[in-house]
Amino acid sequence: MASMVAVLVLLVVMVALILRPFVFPAPENNPVPAIDVRQQVEAAIAARKATLAPVSQGRVCVSCSAAAEPEDSFCRKCGSKLL
Ligand SMILES: [Zn+2]
Repeated sequence: MASMVAVLVLLVVMVALILRPFVFPAPENNPVPAIDVRQQVEAAIAARKATLAPVSQGRVCVSCSAAAEPEDSFCRKCGSKLL
């Protein structure tokens, strides 16, 4: 009978250890992944903006997609007339 009580106590302790992170989430563990995700998202947005900015602001050749200066009338790469 005493061994059964010991097994029960052991089971309760194991279940408590397993469930403790879910019942009592450590407050210092949650903000860290959130900040990491936010930094990753912001870095991805910044990288996307950096790649999109020249395309949206400058002119691009319709034939070869090469960047063109605003004063250019023809593409410097393929010679197509710029719109
Ligand atoms: Zn071109």
